Amino acid sequence: MAEEPKETKPGFQNPVAGFGVTFKAMFKKRLTEQYPEQQKTTAPRFHGRHQLNRHPDGLEKCVGCELCAWACPADAIYVEGADNTDEERYSPGERYGRVYQINYARCILCGLCIEACPTRALTMTNEFELADSSRANLIYTKEQLLAGLEEGMVDSPHAIYPGTDEQDYYRGLVTEAAPGTERQVAFSKGEVPQEAATTFGEDEPASEKVIGR
Ligand code: SF4
Ligand code: SF4
Repeated sequence: MAEEPKETKPGFQNPVAGFGVTFKAMFKKRLTEQYPEQQKTTAPRFHGRHQLNRHPDGLEKCVGCELCAWACPADAIYVEGADNTDEERYSPGERYGRVYQINYARCILCGLCIEACPTRALTMTNEFELADSSRANLIYTKEQLLAGLEEGMVDSPHAIYPGTDEQDYYRGLVTEAAPGTERQVAFSKGEVPQEAATTFGEDEPASEKVIGR
């Protein structure tokens, strides 16, 4: 049996119905966000740029284990661990993350690396403005990812709090740097002791000033 033709509105009603939609929209709450002039607050657990955290005395929590890199589905993390020494100590334990990079051209901000980190060294901030026109700039280095210094902290490398061990740090027994704690020379980063710099002159390149290392 042939289908009955559907009843249609008279031709002049259709434009009027269209204006009805326009009028309704005029009185609705505006959803347009004036970004970047007006920044919107993200949800507290928003997945933004990563951060490498420090212990309360300023030593680094990262132990260079690479578990975050292995957990990453996008292969966005590159880690190189190294041994701490008494003369150049970055973390309370045996190892630290000498090189740490996250490639934000690859990262999908899924947070799996955060779950994999055994020391809570790696967490995510709410910072989302990561866009850049250069691929090289999208590779964040350890220096960019490392948390800033808070009150009571001394920048790494420096000695462990006297009389404590690595376990004490994770038990929360170290709450600030010991009085008199001084930053050590970062030999692995090409720094030189002050006296060596004076001997060789200020205009010499830092890499050539390193002696016996
Ligand atoms: S958030 Fe996800 S994609 Fe980004 S570095 Fe971590 S594991 Fe990799
Ligand atoms: S951030 Fe965590 S998981 Fe990644 S290397 Fe450092 S300690 Fe290991």
